Amino acid sequence: MDNNWRNWFADTIYRRGVQYYKNGHVREMHKITGGYEAIVAGHYLYRVEIITENDRVKDTHCNCQYAYSGEKCKHQVAALLEYKDMLSRQIVLEAQNQATDRSHRIGQKKTVTVFKLIAKGTNEEKIVELQNSKSDLAEEILSGETNIISKMTESDFMELLG
Ligand SMILES: [Zn+2]
Repeated sequence: MDNNWRNWFADTIYRRGVQYYKNGHVREMHKITGGYEAIVAGHYLYRVEIITENDRVKDTHCNCQYAYSGEKCKHQVAALLEYKDMLSRQIVLEAQNQATDRSHRIGQKKTVTVFKLIAKGTNEEKIVELQNSKSDLAEEILSGETNIISKMTESDFMELLG
C-alpha cells in the first residue's frame, strides 16, 4: 500500500496519530469531490480532508488550530491510516465478490456456498475484527454489497472455521 505521505509528519506527531487511529478517534470517512473527508475526535471534532488522485494521497488538510499555520497534525495521520485501511478492506471485498461471481459464471446452477477462510494477521481477519468492534462503520462500508460477510456474526464465522 502506498505510504508516500509518511515523511510529511514529524515522528512525534506520527506516533500520536497512530494512537489516535488505534483508539478509534476517526469517527467518519466519506467520499467528497477530489478525495475523502474524515471526522477525527480530539478536544473538538476536526475535519480532515484527504486530497487523492486515483486513490493516491496528494495532500491533507485539517481545521484544527495546530494545522492552521500549515503544520501537519496528528488528526491527519489518523485519517490517513483509516484511509489506508479502508482501501485494503475494499481490495479484499472485491476479491471475495469476484470469487463468488466467477463460480456463477462457470455455469454453476445449484446453490453455491462460498467459504471464506479467515487467516490470522491478514486483511480478512481485520474485516472480522471490524465486524465486531466497528459494526456501524462496517455497515457503511459493506452497504450496497450483497455480501454474505455483512450478514455474518462472530459465531457464524467460528462455526464455519470449527
Ligand atoms: Zn488537526
